Formats: sequence, C-alpha cells, structure tokens
Amino acid sequence: MNNFTDILRAHHLKATPQRLEIANTLYSHGHVNIEDLYETMLKKFNSISLATIYKNINLMIENAFIQEVKIPNTKSVYELTKEAHSHLVCDNCGHVEDISLDLSAVSALASHSTEFEINKADLVFSGLCKKCQ
Ligand SMILES: [Zn+2]
Ligand SMILES: [Zn+2]
Repeated sequence: MNNFTDILRAHHLKATPQRLEIANTLYSHGHVNIEDLYETMLKKFNSISLATIYKNINLMIENAFIQEVKIPNTKSVYELTKEAHSHLVCDNCGHVEDISLDLSAVSALASHSTEFEINKADLVFSGLCKKCQ
C-alpha cells in the first residue's frame, strides 16, 4: 500500500481516514465515479454522507492531489493526479483507460485554424474495450 499520508501532507492536506480511503480507492481502481466511490466509502464509514465525500473530493482537487476527468454524456470520474494524458472510455461497461498521447500537433492545428489561444487539450475516445468487443 502506498504511503498516502505523506503525499497528502505534501499537498497541504491533512491525512484523515476518509481522505486516505479515497486515495487508496483511486489508486487501486484508477478512475472512479462519485457513486462507486460513495459505495466503497460506505463499507468503511457507515455514516458518511455524499456531501462529505464531495467536500473532500473538491478540496483534494483544489490541492491538485486528485483530478476530475470529464467524460461527455456521463458522470465524471476521479483519478490521482498524474502527468497529462488522454482517455479511452468503453460505451458498454464504462471502463476508463489512460493513454499518453502527444497532442501538440493537434493543438497547433486547432489554434492555427481558429486563432484560439489554446491552454489545454482534453481528449476522450469512446468505443468498446477489449472485453466488450
Ligand atoms: Zn467495456
Ligand atoms: Zn486517467
């Protein structure tokens, strides 16, 4: 198990049992939506509310410990912060996978043809995962 106590502290977050559980859940599952996170948390903290989880999640996002992945037409998932990457989402089972892609050429092309100053590119591919094909 990772020592998330120190990592949380490095992000100026107190390592509460709830935050450690969120960190471990994201670590072992990769990407988790709020409902699945709530279900997992309930097993350990049987009186925890969804509002408390959201409060922790938002604070952990603010402090860059975790990040939100916005997926079109479905709920966001959360993951531990790592270097910039794109995502593949399965239309059938909802599985989310990371892929590291260099988007600089695409961003440059988009910027040239629109005169937009691009700060960030989020790319989400959808389709069927290996298991669902
Ligand atoms: Zn699938
Ligand atoms: Zn990811």
